[in-house]
Amino acid sequence: MTIQELIRKHQILAKDQKLLRAAFDYAQSAHAGQKRQSGEDYIQHPLIVADYLATWGMDPVTVAAALLHDVPENSEKSLDEIKKKFGDEVTFLVLGVTKLGQVKLRNQKDPTYIETLKRMVLAMAKDIRVVLIKLADRLHNMQTITALSRDKQERIARETLEVYASLAARLGMGEVRGQLEDLAFPIVYPKEYNQLVAQVRPKLQNAGHYINVAIGEFARIFRQHEIPITKIEGRIKHLYSLYQKLQRQEYGMDMGKVYDIIALRIITDSVEHCYAVLGTIHQYFKPIRGRIKDYIAVPKPNGYKSLHTTVFGPEQKFVEIQIRTKEMHEEAEYGIASHWAYSDHGKPKTGVKTNQKKLEWVRQLSEWQKEAVRRPEEFLESLRIDFFKNRIFVFTPKGDVKDLPEGASAIDFAFAVHTELGLHCGGAKINGKMAKLETKLQNGDVVEILEDKKLKVTRDWLNLAATSNARGKIRAYLNKHESGLLTRLTPAFMKRKK
Ligand code: MN
Repeated sequence: MTIQELIRKHQILAKDQKLLRAAFDYAQSAHAGQKRQSGEDYIQHPLIVADYLATWGMDPVTVAAALLHDVPENSEKSLDEIKKKFGDEVTFLVLGVTKLGQVKLRNQKDPTYIETLKRMVLAMAKDIRVVLIKLADRLHNMQTITALSRDKQERIARETLEVYASLAARLGMGEVRGQLEDLAFPIVYPKEYNQLVAQVRPKLQNAGHYINVAIGEFARIFRQHEIPITKIEGRIKHLYSLYQKLQRQEYGMDMGKVYDIIALRIITDSVEHCYAVLGTIHQYFKPIRGRIKDYIAVPKPNGYKSLHTTVFGPEQKFVEIQIRTKEMHEEAEYGIASHWAYSDHGKPKTGVKTNQKKLEWVRQLSEWQKEAVRRPEEFLESLRIDFFKNRIFVFTPKGDVKDLPEGASAIDFAFAVHTELGLHCGGAKINGKMAKLETKLQNGDVVEILEDKKLKVTRDWLNLAATSNARGKIRAYLNKHESGLLTRLTPAFMKRKK
């Protein structure tokens, strides 16, 4: 792909082309001579990531940030320079992606780690565009994963399944989720994957042919009834989603009970016509009892809207039908991203509307939060959104995450990492710059503690620490090492100590 192709494909407006070309040129020179593990020129990676984001309808600033997303990590260029050239908004997004890149699923057996990771990602969702760039980045990395060592493949694929795919699902990005899962599935569960493929292969043998026959027949019927149809397409169920369905008790690994391996999607122009399509289909093809679902009247918790039915279709075969408007379709495919940059007419909004876009975004996020209140069990199950209220997430230089209460300082961080590190913390670097130990930390800070083995813990430290964890450990140390201290302790403290 070239920058020219990207601009043409997404019909980028003239006024935005300059930004994208500048971001591209800058990234190209930063990655000059670098190759991907697959042997491709490195610049292809940010180009494809940018292409995904444009496909999801993201604004030019996000697409520019996508072009630049690996520059700080993989080159000598600094964030300061990016800031000078591209401004605060682009820099904020690039920085966010860089920080997320430092989070790694180290120990796959540790569920709290996964939870922390999810929360971290969500804390970053202060600007969800960061997460969307990261999802696009991961999608392309998964597509080129075979170039990596087996060990790395496994780690990345598992992380994709456990963190990124479930995030995509939570954001309503069904297609992205399906793609991420299907790329990770054969790597994480090779045996199960091969079994499933062998089982499903006969069912899919004639799928292409059948889909064409069915589309032809349905199109003819709708013409006859004069219902305007935007598009009919066939889709084959994503394999990992099929695998998960089969594992559910009511299916008991019986493929015969799964009716939606092949589905037809019928896109029409209005809600009214959605119901007209459903009614018309039922006139010609018998529906299966209990399989008619009205997700327009009652959307799924993630906002998914469509009418579903399964009928005895053409050639007497079961086929699932999903009926929706174009807006519902875009939302089902691109989820939260579909609200970002494009108007109803599928054309990019112009500059004056930038603020309106953002308002729309804020509205979407608040809807999302309301949803958490309305259907807490479904929502919190995957997100635990309440946990990260009043919490901040801070990185070690190696990319491990610590979550601390708001107001925590560098000294609190040191004790959160390890008691010994806390007791010997002589200084701190926050985001690479020297800082005082009492400096209050911000969400996303990278904190390095400088150890000083000769250091003596003093009572002043109690004033520098904000968390009960750190203060408790400082008191315990003073208690043990400063004999004179005991007499100065308040009775209340002595009591708590016991
Ligand atoms: Mn990348």
